[in-house]
Amino acid sequence: MYPAAFDYHAPSSVAEVLGLLGRLGDDAKVLAGGHSLVPMMKLRLAQPKHVIDLKKVPGLAGIKEEGGALVIGALTTHWQVESSPIVREKCPVLSDTAGVIGDPAVRNLGTMGGALAHADPAADYPATMIALGAEMICEGPKGRRTVKVDDWFKGLMSTALAENELLVQVRIPATPAGTGGAYLKFPHPASRFAVVGVAAVVTLDGKGVCTKASVGLTGAGTHAVRAKGVEGGLTGKALDAATIEAAAQKGADGVDVQADLQGSVEYKAHLCRVFARRAVEAAAKRARP
Ligand SMILES: Cc1cc2nc3c(=O)[nH]c(=O)nc-3n(C[C@H](O)[C@H](O)[C@H](O)COP(=O)(O)OP(=O)(O)OC[C@H]3O[C@@H](n4cnc5c(N)ncnc54)[C@H](O)[C@@H]3O)c2cc1C
Repeated sequence: MYPAAFDYHAPSSVAEVLGLLGRLGDDAKVLAGGHSLVPMMKLRLAQPKHVIDLKKVPGLAGIKEEGGALVIGALTTHWQVESSPIVREKCPVLSDTAGVIGDPAVRNLGTMGGALAHADPAADYPATMIALGAEMICEGPKGRRTVKVDDWFKGLMSTALAENELLVQVRIPATPAGTGGAYLKFPHPASRFAVVGVAAVVTLDGKGVCTKASVGLTGAGTHAVRAKGVEGGLTGKALDAATIEAAAQKGADGVDVQADLQGSVEYKAHLCRVFARRAVEAAAKRARP
C-alpha cells in the first residue's frame, strides 16, 4: 500500500516545528522514527496532508542525568536507551524495556517520544513509565509544561499532548536505595508487541518491607494503566512468595480489560495476574541487597 499524497517539511528547530504545527493544525503529523506513523499512513488509517520530519531538529535526542533524574530526549531511539550505560546503571528496568521492543530494525529507528505520543495500547514503554512515575515535558507556543505519567494516557492512542505541542523530553525521577524494577511481557509472536506486559518498581527497607510499590500494566485495555490493586497488596508488607501471589491476584482488578484478536477478557486478565507476579518477583529480587 502507498500512503496518500502529503507535503514533506524538514524544519531545523523546535520553534520552526511549533510554527508549522500552529499553522497547519490537524492536517499535520510530526514524523520521528516512522515505525508507527508510516505503517498507519500506508494502511491509510492516517492521511496527514503535511508530514513534519523531526530528524534535522537538533537537541531532541540524548540521555543525561539532572539532579539524579534521567532526562531523555524524545528523539532518542529504543536502541540508544537499551545500550546507554547510564540508563543501565541508574534504571535497568528501562534498558530492559527498550531491549524487548520489536526487533533490531524497530529499535534502531523507533523513538521514545514517538512511542509515548503514539500510545499504542500494546506498547511496552507506557507500563514502565507508569511504574517509574515519569514526567512528559511538552513544548508548545506558550513554552514548556510537564505532564505526570498518570495524567498522560487518556484512551486508545490518545494522550494529554495538545495538537500544537511537541513532546520534547521524558524525565525519570531518581529512585531511592533499595529499589528494584522489572518489566516482563507476553509478546505477540509476530510483532513482539505486548499481549500483556507488566512493569513493577518496588522499594524495600532494611528489613525487606515494601515501602513503595508502583506497577504499570500495558496491553490489557485501550491504554496503559496503574495496577492499583497490586500496589496496595504489596505496600507495607514483607515481599514473601505468598504476599506477592496474593497481590498479583489483583492484577486485573479495576482494569477495563478488552478482548481482541490476541485473546478473550478472561485470558488477558489471567495474563495480567501471571505477569504481575513474575514482574514483582523479579523487581523484589533486584531490590534486595
Ligand atoms: C514491526 C514492528 C514491531 C513493533 N513492535 C513493538 C513492540 O514490541 N513494542 C512497542 O512498544 N512498540 C513496537 N513497535 C512500535 C515502535 O516502537 C514505534 O517506533 C513507536 O511506537 C513509535 O515511535 P516512532 O519514533 O517510530 O514514531 P512515529 O511513527 O514517527 O510517530 C508515531 C506518532 O507519534 C507522533 N510523534 C512522534 N514523535 C513525537 C513527538 N516528539 N512529539 C509529538 N508527537 C510525536 C507522530 O506524529 C505519530 O502520530 C513496533 C513497530 C513495528 C513496525
